[in-house]
Amino acid sequence: MLSSKSLSLISKQLCINTIKKGFSTTDSGNAATKRICIVGAGPAGFYAAQYLLKHISDCAVDIIEKLPVPYGLVRYGVAPDHPEVKNVINTFNKTAENKGFNFYGNLALGKDINLDDLRKRYHAVLLTYGADQDRHLNIPNEDKPNVLSARKFVAWYNGLPGAQHLNPNLSGNTVAILGQGNVAVDAARMLLSSLDALRKTDTTEYALETLARSKVEQVYLVGRRGPLQAAFTIKELREMLKLPNVQTLWKPDDFTDVSAQIPNLPRPRKRLTELMLKSLSEQPRESSSSSGKKLFLPIFLRAPKAIGENEVELTVTELQNDMAVPTDKTEQLATDLVLRSIGYKSTCVDGGICFDEKSGRVYNENGRVLRDAVSKTVDEGIYVAGWLGTGPTGVILTTMNGAFSVAKTICDDISSKKLDTSISKAGLDAKQLQRVVTWAHWQRIDEAETKAGQALGKPREKFVDVEEMLKVAGL
Ligand code: FAD
Ligand code: NAP
Repeated sequence: MLSSKSLSLISKQLCINTIKKGFSTTDSGNAATKRICIVGAGPAGFYAAQYLLKHISDCAVDIIEKLPVPYGLVRYGVAPDHPEVKNVINTFNKTAENKGFNFYGNLALGKDINLDDLRKRYHAVLLTYGADQDRHLNIPNEDKPNVLSARKFVAWYNGLPGAQHLNPNLSGNTVAILGQGNVAVDAARMLLSSLDALRKTDTTEYALETLARSKVEQVYLVGRRGPLQAAFTIKELREMLKLPNVQTLWKPDDFTDVSAQIPNLPRPRKRLTELMLKSLSEQPRESSSSSGKKLFLPIFLRAPKAIGENEVELTVTELQNDMAVPTDKTEQLATDLVLRSIGYKSTCVDGGICFDEKSGRVYNENGRVLRDAVSKTVDEGIYVAGWLGTGPTGVILTTMNGAFSVAKTICDDISSKKLDTSISKAGLDAKQLQRVVTWAHWQRIDEAETKAGQALGKPREKFVDVEEMLKVAGL
């Protein structure tokens, strides 16, 4: 939290209109009559900022972000070999050019500042701090060294500060990924891709070194339900099927009765299922790694039961109303490493937030945060968007639509006077906050990363140490 000393310092200094060269905080800040703080600089935060700045004329939008760098999972989640997805950053950068926009990096809600501080300083606070923890299976031995969360693995190859020391043990032949979402497929692709391809991406150098020594030749993708319920999507599967030097092998038994259901499926599910069946029909009868290719091995109707030293115990399941129901049969799947990929989880970072621990979401109605879940009274001026409000599913486009919709609600609440903006609010001033990263500081980090990347023939080499980032920023 901010100490009372630093808070009073901020209060005092906020009255003083000083403008630092190359930093427009007070410029926009002083003119604005509506001040909105967004917590979290991921897609939800940036898209909401874009909407608010477009639709409210006299508005200042400040984004606070716990890391010194922006973009959330676009930087630290999206796979390095999907650079086209990261193009959304261009839109975010346009928003950042707006005079009414300010970035305050290296400032964490719940640690450096609390929600009450923000309530006093802004007419509205929009929480978009995402989901940066893991869901657990709660099965025996899940905490053993041979089990890693896919979230940590993703953070490791993407260079999230704190994840650089993960050092995954890739000395074995087999990895079993538990879960079949697109995160699981991303992890599988990173494990099976050729190093030459990855070297051209912004995969961190230390991850490339470890992947260069990897002995992994086969990756299982274990789903508790059937092919018709698979959580991965067609683009990601197609990419796996086309991956050079990798053979995808399905278990024919998993597809019993699947063809018969195709006519009744909605179109995206139908196309995905047809692709799986086509790939199954084309696969060699003799399924072995003797082809010299690495293997991608999706298996269905198996739920994780326990983890052993060199295997996972799986319960055979059957489907009832699309749900996986355990049978009394079990199987052992031999594996050297297990990646748990069953979803991300949000946490409550500040006691002032009405948070539903069970669903891992902030209690809200259409983005308006509730004061308490029983009476459903709205916590005036507090909003939520992105994965923190919806739960950890949905692609950037889904997140964008949700963020626009909540931003519109804020606009509506301002124009209907549901949200009181008559009292002037001070906002924050980066100059009075210690080691806060402004947009200009981030641009220095960005430039240095791009330069370091160029020398290595890749788009960027990320700094993975916060102190190093701050040093490059000049802080
Ligand atoms: P986030 O992107 O997580 O942003 C939240 C931000 O809040 C982060 O910057 C975080 O550092 C910050 N924060 C956290 N705590 C605090 C705090 N206490 N104070 C201040 N700031 C805080 N979608 C696609 O369309 N294509 C893809 O290829 C794709 N790949 C993905 C790969 C992975 C591994 C994952 C997990 C998701 C992927 N997605 C993809 C989905 C996409 O990333 C999400 O839809 C989107 O990032 C959600 O946005 P968000 O703003 O809610 O959360
Ligand atoms: P997800 O899509 O929700 O998949 C989670 C997987 O974990 C599902 O297979 C689910 O099975 C399984 N699972 C959950 N609980 C389980 C349990 N207790 N036991 C066994 N299995 C369990 O989540 P995600 O992969 O983390 O992805 C999150 C979001 O980001 C998704 O919307 C995804 O599309 C998006 N994303 C997109 C891309 C891309 O566009 N390339 C890349 C990565 C992520 P059930 O279905 O049976 O619950």
